[in-house]
Amino acid sequence: MDRARLRQLLARESAEAECANPRSRAAYAEAEHLFGRVPMTWMNKTAGAFPRYLESAHGARVRDIDGHEYIDFCLGDTGAMAGHSPAAVTDAVQHRFTALGGATAMLPTQDAEWVGAELTRRFGPTRWSFSLTATDANRWAIRLARAVTGRPKILVNSYCYHGSVDESLIVTGPDGRGAARPGNVGAPCDVTLTSRVAEFNDLDHLERELAHGDVAAVLMEPALTNIGIVLPEPGYLEGVRELTRRHGTLLINDETHTFSAGPGGCTGAWGLEPDVLTIGKAIGGGIPAGAYGLSAELADRLLGRDDLDLVDMGGVGGTLAGNALSVAATRATLEHVLTDEAFARMCRLAERFEAGVRAGIEAHALPWTVSRLGARTEYRFTAPAPRTGTEAATASDPELEDFLHLYLANRGILLTPFHNMALMCPDTTEQDVDTHTALFAAALAELAG
Ligand code: PMP
Repeated sequence: MDRARLRQLLARESAEAECANPRSRAAYAEAEHLFGRVPMTWMNKTAGAFPRYLESAHGARVRDIDGHEYIDFCLGDTGAMAGHSPAAVTDAVQHRFTALGGATAMLPTQDAEWVGAELTRRFGPTRWSFSLTATDANRWAIRLARAVTGRPKILVNSYCYHGSVDESLIVTGPDGRGAARPGNVGAPCDVTLTSRVAEFNDLDHLERELAHGDVAAVLMEPALTNIGIVLPEPGYLEGVRELTRRHGTLLINDETHTFSAGPGGCTGAWGLEPDVLTIGKAIGGGIPAGAYGLSAELADRLLGRDDLDLVDMGGVGGTLAGNALSVAATRATLEHVLTDEAFARMCRLAERFEAGVRAGIEAHALPWTVSRLGARTEYRFTAPAPRTGTEAATASDPELEDFLHLYLANRGILLTPFHNMALMCPDTTEQDVDTHTALFAAALAELAG
C-alpha cells in the first residue's frame, strides 16, 4: 500500500465531502448544546470532519439534508436490518400508538406472548422477557446468571462487543492475562474482579479460565461481529458448550448481530443450545426493543427463589421495557418483515456482495479477506482471515477504512462506520449490490494508481 497516495486520496475525498454537504457541515458547526456536537458521542465516529444529517429513510435508501440519496448497507448497524420504516411495522406502530393509543401503560399486551412463542420457535429458549436495548438484555441476563449459579464472574471473548456492559470491557493483555479494554470510561472497579477473558476459537484458553470455578456465565457471540467478522472454526462452538457444561457455567449467546445468520440467528442455523439467549436492535424493526430468553428449567429456578426481587428494585427491569409499542413493532417485524423467506433472499444478496468484494481483492492481489455471516458481510485488511478478536484488532487500518468509507459515501453508498460491514435488508436489490461492487473496484483501482 502506497501510504502517501492513500493520504492524498483521503484528503481529496474529505475535501469533496466538505464541499458537497454544506447543510450537514453547518448543522454540526451550530450544535453548541450537544455533548460532542452530536445526539450521542459515537456519532462522531464518521469518516470526514462531520456526520451527514439524516433527512429521511425508507427500505434500503437513506437521504441526507443536502439532498443526497444513499444505498444503505449500514442499516443502523443492524437496528434497521428489516429496512427503514417497513410498511408492516409502520402500520402496527400507528395502530398501537394512534388508533388504540397507549405506548407505555404499565400493563401487558397480548402481542408479547405471540412474540415469545415466535422467539422460541426461532431460537429455542422457552421463557422470554423484554428490554429496550441489547445492552440491557445482556445486563439482566448476567445478573440472572450470577443469581442462579452463585458465582461472581462473567467470561467474554477478547475484543467482543456486547454493548456498554461493564463486565464485557476486558481484553487479553500482551502477557495473555485479562486487562481493561483500552479507553474504558469510568470503570466501577478493576474489570478482572468481575470478568475473565478468553480468545475466540481457543478452547484451551477457555478451559484454563473456567477451571477457576468462579465463572457464572460465558457471554459470547457465536461469531464475533464487532471486530470484523471472526467465524468459529469447526468444533469450537461444540467445545464451548461441552466445557461450559462440564464447569457448571451457563452459556449466553448474544444474537444481536449474528441474527443475520438466519431467522433464528446462529443458534437456529447451527443447532446451538445456549442456556440464555439475548437479542436487540433489529427485532423492533426500528423501534427500540430487546429480549432475553431462558430455558423453562432456569426460569423456574429463578422464580422459585424468595430471596430475589424480580418484581421491584432487585436490579432486573426497566419501566419502559416490554412496552406496548415496542412489543407491537417486534411482532410486526417477526411476523411480516424478517421472515424465513426474507432471510433466504437477503443471504443470496450477501453472497453476491461477498463475491463482488472478493473479485476486487483478487484483481489487485491484496492481502485482504472477506467474510460472510448470512446476510452480513465484512472485509478485513489481512489474510488469512483472523481467528481471534486480538488478531482482528491488530489488522485495523483507520486511514484506509476512512478512505473507503468516504469514497463510497461521496458516491452514494453507506457502510457501517465502525468497520467495513455491509448488511442486506429485505428491500436491498441485486442492482444495489452491483453498484457497490463497481465502486469498490474503482476505489481499489485508484489506490493502485
Ligand atoms: N450486543 C452486540 C453483539 C452488539 O453488537 C451490540 C451493539 N453493537 C450490543 C449488544 C448493544 O446494543 P445496544 O447498543 O443497542 O444496546
